[in-house]
Amino acid sequence: MHNLVIIGSGPAGLTAAIYAARANLSPLLIEGWQSGGQLTTTTEVENYPGFSKGIMGPELMKEMRGQAARFGTEFLTGDVSAVDLARRPFRLTIDGEHTVETAALILATGASAIPLGLPNERRLTGHGVSTCATCDGYFFRGKELVVVGGGDSALEEATFLTKFARTVTVVHRRDKLRASKIMQDRAMKNEKISFAWNSVVEDILGTDLVIGARLKNLVTGTSSELACDGIFVAIGHRPNTDLFKGQLAMDEKGYILTSQGTATSVAGVFAAGDVQDTKYRQAITAAGSGCMAAIDAERFLESTLHHL
Ligand code: NAP
Repeated sequence: MHNLVIIGSGPAGLTAAIYAARANLSPLLIEGWQSGGQLTTTTEVENYPGFSKGIMGPELMKEMRGQAARFGTEFLTGDVSAVDLARRPFRLTIDGEHTVETAALILATGASAIPLGLPNERRLTGHGVSTCATCDGYFFRGKELVVVGGGDSALEEATFLTKFARTVTVVHRRDKLRASKIMQDRAMKNEKISFAWNSVVEDILGTDLVIGARLKNLVTGTSSELACDGIFVAIGHRPNTDLFKGQLAMDEKGYILTSQGTATSVAGVFAAGDVQDTKYRQAITAAGSGCMAAIDAERFLESTLHHL
């Protein structure tokens, strides 16, 4: 039986752990088989305060984990396969095998990349289709690449991929980018990057490896084929909340609803980071809400005298 379990090892979960551990709550953090969250699949983080020269995403997460460990956070590597939030203590099943009980719970399970939903996309994932430029960009030296999307992620990926690729075509469904001005300027100035405006990927071509994309121009209605060796999908993320469906109040997209800070619809369960954030979705806002969740959980435990 634990005072506090935190699910998730991105900036929200680890910041919650740092605060909870320093408050002597002896938190258990379940970090999943892929520790570190989305920042482990990014390159340089330039806007996290405290690093005037920037810091690599994986390095930032390593530092946060070390900081949480230093104050006594216990880590458990594994995936939560079921949760029972109907009564306290809350019960979590890990990898379908063993059970953990806790008086309070912080959900910081983050979000995952949204796929295009094309039949060939799944089949060719790992064979030219990717959602992580940092992970896979290296394999595309001197190649022709496509990035789908018009947000910060798409332009960040496109810019990063020009380190390896010969050309990068950004396919965007409108004629205006959603990305921030600084990212737009950087991409526009990059000679290797070009844009296919008002266009969507209709199909991904290739038998064993990607050889191209069929694009549809949404203004003219015409389709065309673009030869390429890789397609990076960067059209946003969805919250990782399937485990909690039917047990917590969520919005129509599955984001956990919070009120009065990080409280969810179940007393004693708190949510932090991208799992409850439809608006900001930054590493620093995730970390900030992780801090809030730890403070909220501490006050909850004090008020219910569940503190071990
Ligand atoms: P996003 O801002 O939601 O952008 C998603 C993009 O994909 C949009 O351009 C959208 O088009 C397009 N899209 C969505 N569904 C599509 C579909 N089915 N087919 C084709 N295109 C589709 O997501 P994001 O770029 O991942 O960014 C998420 C958040 O993280 C944002 O707040 C962003 O600022 C932040 N972020 C920041 C940085 C940084 O500062 N370094 C880096 C990455 C992300 P429309 O524009 O037409 O909607």
